Amino acid sequence: MTTHAYQKCINPDCAATFDLLQVLSKCPNCGNLVDVQYEWDELDVPESLQWFEKRWADRRNPLDFSGVWRFRELIPFPRQADVLTIGEGQTMLKQSDGLAREIGLAPGSLFLQYEGLNLSGSFKDNGMTAAFTHAKMTGAKTAACASTGNTSASMACFAAATGLMEPIIFVGSGKIAYGKLSQALDFGGKTVQIEGDFDDAMARVLETCEQTGMYLMNTLNPFRLEGQKAIMFRVLEGLGWEPPDWIVVPGGNLGNSSAFGKAFMELHRLGLINRVPRVAIINSTGADTLSRLVNQEGLRWNGGHVDDGVIERFYKQMDAENRRANTIASAIEINRPVNLKKALRTLDFTGGVVRAVPDEAILDAKALVGRCGIGCEPASAASVAGTKLLREEGVISANDRVACVLTGHQLKDPNATVNYHSLPPEQIPEKLGRYGVRSAAYQNRPVAAANDLDSILKVIERE
Ligand SMILES: *Cc1c(COP(=O)(O)O)cnc(C)c1O
Ligand SMILES: [Zn+2]
Repeated sequence: MTTHAYQKCINPDCAATFDLLQVLSKCPNCGNLVDVQYEWDELDVPESLQWFEKRWADRRNPLDFSGVWRFRELIPFPRQADVLTIGEGQTMLKQSDGLAREIGLAPGSLFLQYEGLNLSGSFKDNGMTAAFTHAKMTGAKTAACASTGNTSASMACFAAATGLMEPIIFVGSGKIAYGKLSQALDFGGKTVQIEGDFDDAMARVLETCEQTGMYLMNTLNPFRLEGQKAIMFRVLEGLGWEPPDWIVVPGGNLGNSSAFGKAFMELHRLGLINRVPRVAIINSTGADTLSRLVNQEGLRWNGGHVDDGVIERFYKQMDAENRRANTIASAIEINRPVNLKKALRTLDFTGGVVRAVPDEAILDAKALVGRCGIGCEPASAASVAGTKLLREEGVISANDRVACVLTGHQLKDPNATVNYHSLPPEQIPEKLGRYGVRSAAYQNRPVAAANDLDSILKVIERE
């Protein structure tokens, strides 16, 4: 067992530390989030990021094959023998000049980090391999999560592939895209549909874990975030280890944005990068807690002294108005993001910004991503819609190098895609109509033809 990894409360007034093998979803002293921390001076860390390239030569070693564990010196909490990997992180960073042109960036400036290539079809696998590894180290037998869909797909996938833990899934009923629900069922996850939304499911899973000792796989679990740091390592790898100017990421529970900030804090501290990219976090306007708190209420990290009063008042008001998260981008349909404070830390350390984009902009951006030959699910496209907005505002310049994280696969939510492309506005179902999706700027409607060559040729010519 490495003794150079431990857990620590992020609140500087508390700063309590805990053993690596404790299972924590919050600091028992003060209730704040906990981090995994390392005694870096005691650990062997490569002198440059290029060093990791030697791992490319040995893809038969599962740890070198993994897009997470080939960076294991930067995630040094398990022994190699403890690692549970299913081959996560086989992703790519794709430059897209066509999309760059559409959103106002210069050729050569826009890169898409496509996480849909993970085994379960979303970036969640990056974190799940680390959390499963920790769960195994603690001897856990049951894994539980609340999910808008992708966490449950990934958790059930890891449980099925490793056979080590029984997966219990909490979802809001009717709140999960079909592609994701189908995965949870196919992988054999016990799926509990709760009358309520994600925020309700999250509250119930926390109670259940507390009472039963089931291992929590949500990103309150700091080990998930350790694995998700690797998404940034791979973006740097794709760029020849030269940091971009911007990382743009959708914000839901804010685990990713929290993990990215921690990755850059550590890389910077270790002298492995000399410039830190700015992180832009993109909410949907239908679930914009972070954007409101930062841009309207002025909430800041403030050296770790976050103003809890502002957050409490905000949630009280939200409950009084009975405001519920409501967006077509179901993966970010979250109004009480559990990693809020860590995301504030990311914004502070990287000079980041937060924006919210409406569902129409998200779906149009999604169609554009499809047109450039990748495709993604709705929430992922928030990063592209957000980049476009930040270009229009002049916050991002035309020549800035921007990496957008495409968090999930195109086939996760086929209903959203088919409805966007095929239905005339008056027929858009309530589920979409409620979100005000009426424009379809990039719509590609299927056309009907009679079953004979003449009518088919006529239809093709007309189109
Ligand atoms: C989970 C998820 C998000 C939100 O990520 P957070 O880390 O919760 O902010 C965005 N997009 C997709 C596809 C996801 O699965
Ligand atoms: Zn504490």
